Parts: sequence; structure tokens; C-alpha cells
Amino acid sequence: MPPVLNDIIIIGGSHAGLFAAIALQNAGFRVRVFERAPETLRGTGAGIRVQPLLADLLQREAQIDPARFATHTHFDRHLAPRRDSMQNRIVYEKAEDGDFASWGSLYRALLKRFGDDNYFCGESCVGTREVADKVEVNFAGGLCETADLVVFADGIASTGRHQLNPSARLQYAGYVAWRGMVAEAELSAETRALLKDARIFIVPELSHAILYPVPGEPGIDGAGEVRINAIWYRNVDARSDLDALMTDREGTHRATSIRAGLMKKRYIDQFRRAVEAELPPAAVEVFARSEPFVTTINDVEPSRMVFGRQVLVGDAAAATRPHVSASTARAMRAAWGLAAALSAAKSAGDIAANLAAWEREHVAIAQEFTDRGRMIGSRLQVEGTFVPGAPELTQITMPVER
Ligand SMILES: Cc1cc2nc3c(=O)[nH]c(=O)nc-3n(C[C@H](O)[C@H](O)[C@H](O)COP(=O)(O)OP(=O)(O)OC[C@H]3O[C@@H](n4cnc5c(N)ncnc54)[C@H](O)[C@@H]3O)c2cc1C
Repeated sequence: MPPVLNDIIIIGGSHAGLFAAIALQNAGFRVRVFERAPETLRGTGAGIRVQPLLADLLQREAQIDPARFATHTHFDRHLAPRRDSMQNRIVYEKAEDGDFASWGSLYRALLKRFGDDNYFCGESCVGTREVADKVEVNFAGGLCETADLVVFADGIASTGRHQLNPSARLQYAGYVAWRGMVAEAELSAETRALLKDARIFIVPELSHAILYPVPGEPGIDGAGEVRINAIWYRNVDARSDLDALMTDREGTHRATSIRAGLMKKRYIDQFRRAVEAELPPAAVEVFARSEPFVTTINDVEPSRMVFGRQVLVGDAAAATRPHVSASTARAMRAAWGLAAALSAAKSAGDIAANLAAWEREHVAIAQEFTDRGRMIGSRLQVEGTFVPGAPELTQITMPVER
């Protein structure tokens, strides 16, 4: 008799959770998403490079047109750091197409597609228990729900991973991302002209900065607004400075990210001084007009994704460094693969065997990305051997498969 497999609960309603929700719903499963945040998520001020694979899958399988949530650029442009020029001097330029979303523009497009009838906010999963062929899910507020399968898409600090695979831990990479976002319209004409239509790289001593345009978040930013997303990766010693930096204004220590507005003033002031000393005028202007915040850069070594009738996807399964710019595409591909594996298992086969094959494929992909991210991070942040345009240092492009 084919296994009972209809009802699926997803823990975490961000990108990976919504990819899985849409893919599984499309495949005919009953899907419910439980998100810890008290209400639908708002942009965290981040930008996302949209890989061709992600754009293609969203368009083909979810009927979401990338033009609705992404900007398009035509150049990669490198600017000299301040030590080499006081001006915005272009040191390298190459024609290169790129699509970029803001965190919020992608999230809103996904949520609109999934709908909010089965998207429940304010529910934080605290643990699960497999009972026969079901999984019981417990939430902090006392709710207990049962499903045939649970997908954990609860991010880099995943409760699911902690429970199911406790040896897979966050490993701090030795540097953090200082991030900022500003409306393009607020910038001077010279800066706008330089940043428009390009992904900008700047490589000061043992660090690197990236800037690119992204769409605003529908319903929050002005209609049609373009924003400039800026990231500066800076080394921070784990033994001496990290804990203090990652303690917010209210005295709470955050392992992975402090939101804009909650950084201690002393660190913002230090950061702004470093920006003026090391980055070219265009980047100084962007960071000066934004409210900077910090995310630590970590690896979570890929190992296992399947634990009986519970699976991990997205950053919960493995977190790779952002230099590869493909975590969302990886999560999307895993979501579609999961829907195919479960559909096949539902009609004929063996859930365990199908999930094991899915796991082998996606752990291998995550491992490739982890290794590539570490190599790029090391060349930029440790060795200082970055060469503009070097093929081994460009991000992975996940090709579209048909
Ligand atoms: C600096 C930086 C730059 C990046 N740039 C790119 C890029 O260019 N391209 C790219 O593809 N990726 C990029 N990424 C990675 C990308 O942001 C993530 O991989 C992507 O957003 C997928 O995240 P996720 O859904 O797995 O996790 P998250 O976005 O972290 O979502 C997890 C969700 O689960 C919820 N949750 C957590 N615990 C619980 C619980 N117990 N119960 C219920 N809900 C819970 C959280 O509230 C959250 O909404 C970048 C990351 C960083 C840090």
C-alpha cells in the first residue's frame, strides 16, 4: 500500500520556507507554514543576487515574473579603494548581466503566490516527535499540530537542525558583513550615474565591498523605488571584538545579525570613520545615508538533510558564505527536488529511499558551494590575492536545466 503522505508542515516562512511551500502545494500536497515572527516579515535591508536558475524556476514553475521583484544590471565595475585614489576611479569593468532582488521584494512575491490562508505567524516551533508515520510539532504558545512530514526552513540558527543534527554547528568565518541600504533618489547625480546599471566591487586591504541596485519592498517603500544595497565584509577577531560588536543597544547578544537601528552608536561611529578612510566617495555617500547593521558570516557544514519524516532545507540544512550568491537558488532547487521526490514516493514508492536520493544530491551541491565560498572568502579576507575578473573568484552561476 502506498504510504500516507498528504499533509506537510513547514517551519519558517522566509525564502526557503516559501519555495518549499509553493513547490509542495503545486505538487498537490496540503501545506501549512508556521513562522515565528508575529506578523508577515518586513525587509531586513538585504540584497539578493537572483541566479538564472532561480529566475527560471520561479517563472516556469511558480508563474512569478522576475521583473516583478528584481532589477537588472549590465556591468561589473571595480572602483579603487581610497588608498589608491581619492576619487571614484574605475579600475576594471566588464559587461556582465545580473538580476538583483531585495530581501523583501522576493519575499512579497513568494507570499503573494502562496497566499496567506495557510501561512501562520507568531508560532515558534520548540520541538517535534515522530509517532508512527506522523510527526507531532510543538509550538511555544502551546499549540500542537500533526503532519505526515515536516520541513524545517528555519534559517541559520535552526531549531530543527539543533534537535535533529546537533553536531552541525555554526562556524564563524572570521569576518562580518556591514550592510546598508538607501533610496537611489537620495544620492548625488554623480553617484547615481556610477552605481546605476552595475554591480560595484571595491577591494581595500583584506576586505571587500559590493554595491548594487535592488527594488524597494512593495507596500513599504515608494512604488517603483530603486534602492542601493551596500555590503562591506570586514575581519573581526572572534576572541577579542566580536561579542561586544554583536551585543545590541539593549544589551542582548545576537549570534548572527543585529537589525538596523539596534547597533551600538560607538560601533556605527567607528564604522563610518573606516568607510571615510578606506572606501571611494560613492560608497561613502551610500553608507553615510543609510542606517548600517551587521551580520556575522558563518559556515554550517553540509551533512544530513533527512531524518525519518523530517527534513531540513535552505540555511537550516547548510549555510554557505554569501560570496557564492546562490543560497536562494540552492534552496529553490532543493524545494523542487523535494516535491518531485515526495510525489514519486506518494504514488508508488518508498519515502525513505526517495528522500535518501534527494539528500545525496543536495548535500553534494551544498558542499560544492561551501568549498567555493570558503575559497573566495579566504582569497579576499585572509590572503589578499583577489584579482578582478579571475574566473575562479566569480560567483557560481547555477545553469538553467530543462
Ligand atoms: C550578507 C549576505 C548576503 C547574501 N547575499 C545573497 C545573495 O546575493 N544571493 C543569495 O541567493 N543568497 C544570499 N544570501 C543568503 C540568503 O539571504 C539566504 O540563504 C536566504 O534568504 C534563505 O534563507 P532561509 O529561508 O533558509 O532562512 P531565513 O531567511 O533565515 O529564514 C528563516 C525563517 O524561519 C523563522 N524561524 C526561525 N526559527 C523558527 C522557529 N523555531 N519556528 C518558526 N519559525 C522560525 C525565522 O523567523 C525566519 O523567518 C546572503 C546572506 C547574507 C548574510
